Amino acid sequence: MRYQYCPQCGTKLTTKTAGDDGEVPFCASCGKYRFDSFASCVIVLTYNEYDEIVLCRQNYLSDRYTSVTSGYIAPGETAEEAAVREVREELGIDLESLEYAGTVWFDKGDMLMHAFVGFAHKCELKLSKEIDSAQWVPYKEAPDTMFPDRPGNALYTAYRKYLEIRGFDGKRESPDPAFQPQTDMALSRLTYEEAVRTIPPGRYRHMKGGEYEVIGIARHSETEAPMVVYKALYGDGGIWCRPAGMWNERVIRNGIPCRRFYRLDRIERVEKYERLFNDAATAPDPEKLRLLDAYYTSGEWLEDYEADENGELPPELKRGVLSQDALYDLLESASEATTHPDP
Ligand SMILES: [Zn+2]
Repeated sequence: MRYQYCPQCGTKLTTKTAGDDGEVPFCASCGKYRFDSFASCVIVLTYNEYDEIVLCRQNYLSDRYTSVTSGYIAPGETAEEAAVREVREELGIDLESLEYAGTVWFDKGDMLMHAFVGFAHKCELKLSKEIDSAQWVPYKEAPDTMFPDRPGNALYTAYRKYLEIRGFDGKRESPDPAFQPQTDMALSRLTYEEAVRTIPPGRYRHMKGGEYEVIGIARHSETEAPMVVYKALYGDGGIWCRPAGMWNERVIRNGIPCRRFYRLDRIERVEKYERLFNDAATAPDPEKLRLLDAYYTSGEWLEDYEADENGELPPELKRGVLSQDALYDLLESASEATTHPDP
């Protein structure tokens, strides 16, 4: 949409040269360019472990054709966050993973569509009032009722991405097990040795807050799949086991990718040094600086830094101390201050 009047103050726009963009509508009263605007929307195809996808019917759009979840991206939101939110609002599903499929310009709606494919275990749908009906449909049957495949229909960008992810596009001889993260077969893909190495005994925090102690890794008697044996550190202290492949899995929570479980000793160590780091940055204290220096040079800092790079720290954890530049500068300026005291 090309603005004739300033959307902020209503002044009739003139044009003004804006670098490579050439002549652009300009509000002389606000002193701002008013570039052509369009809506940014998401469209999300949701699939489950039974090779089914959710198709919805919205009677105001069509009484014949089905589509998948879609909606406007809100200001301040990323496309990924909008995708997760729309699926939760329209279908009552919390996606467990999300993949980007691409963008499509939808001329009729003056919209840029961001297409995604999301996974969730099969569950009952809780529909919003916007949706007249929706159901899990075998993926092969979906095109029978879906809106026709025309240029600009982002539904097919998502659908083709789904076929590609699941290996149904004929480009692979058989579905790649790497793309079946939720099936029993894939869960056992983590070897026993890998599970032992990556899930050491100790305390862990589940992304929803519960704390657990990993006792060890067991082998499933029938399948030999590695299983994590762990104990709840609350309530009745129940003992549980869970396929090791699921332990390290990344999931989407509140629109942010995170781990299902975080190592508590690591979180506590980062928290401890983060406090020292903030204290020492405000008021240099020789003992605190010594502890920070020991942390930095001991190899523990590098371990935590790498864990952070691997997404093994919760997104909300404050971790200024893991910024190499910031910590190095602090230690450096402190050592200069001690070797060259102010006259
Ligand atoms: Zn204006």
